[in-house]
Amino acid sequence: EERSKEAELKSVALNQAKIELEKQAEQLVLSSKYKSEFLANMSHELRTPLNSILILSELIAENAGEQSRGEEEKFAKVIHTSGKDLLALIDDILDLSKVEAGKMEIIYGEMNINDLPNYLEMNFNHVAEKKGLLFSILKGANIPNIFCTDEKMMLQILKNLLSNAFKYTEKGSISIEIKNVPNKELQPAFAGKEADYWISFSIKDSGIGIPKEKHQLIFEAFQQADGATMRKYGGTGLGLSICQEYAKHLGGYVTLESEEGVGSTFTLYLPSLSTKLGKEDVLLTAL
Ligand code: ADP
Repeated sequence: EERSKEAELKSVALNQAKIELEKQAEQLVLSSKYKSEFLANMSHELRTPLNSILILSELIAENAGEQSRGEEEKFAKVIHTSGKDLLALIDDILDLSKVEAGKMEIIYGEMNINDLPNYLEMNFNHVAEKKGLLFSILKGANIPNIFCTDEKMMLQILKNLLSNAFKYTEKGSISIEIKNVPNKELQPAFAGKEADYWISFSIKDSGIGIPKEKHQLIFEAFQQADGATMRKYGGTGLGLSICQEYAKHLGGYVTLESEEGVGSTFTLYLPSLSTKLGKEDVLLTAL
């Protein structure tokens, strides 16, 4: 009898601990949601005064130029550039917190990617020329449409990944390859996902590369491979978190293969239209 009492006490204690843990987890989710909502609202409020600063500093720089007083023009230009950097940071925080707080308005639809190569060339050819890098786009034949994808979010992911490739590459080449991939060809971490077919977008660069131990870390907000004290390249460390978060909401994922000093390949996978999923399924995979 003594024993069964002990067992009962134990089970009561265990149950209490479980309830306590569940409560804590609930609170964590809630406070993370509040944090994201706060950041989203805050960023929105910060943009308005900053826009005035940007417009007015530009005007001052133009007028000061006419009166040929060098200093004023220079200061106004610094204000303008700093303001633009700040705006980029605020926009990133806004995007990330919005999507984390579930406030991002996601427009689902079918996306045809036939025009994508043209669009990317238009956006990145000039950067490639300026840096003396080879830029190529390889697209497999008969790529089906992407399923349930918000075009704006999808393009933002590709633009972020390509901007990084150009930023962290000094010589050589950058390519983007678009393929249709059956689920069984994907790496194990991926095989559990629902879609039968995926469209993959691989952005490959011959840049500085990323050490293995940083591969997971850099997808987290504000994390950069070389640490704050030895920053050589600017940036906020938010771009990749936005990519991963957006990809998840579109039912997909971003993976990374990279070797230090050799280069990096970031790949975005999105479910293809040949996959028979409903919108609800994509939302489920995303959340
Ligand atoms: P940011 O580029 O603004 O610092 P990201 O979130 O886009 O922020 O990237 C996080 C970090 O990952 C970068 O600081 C950099 O260290 C590393 N990184 C991202 N893309 C590349 C790349 N193509 N080549 C080398 N390092 C990269």
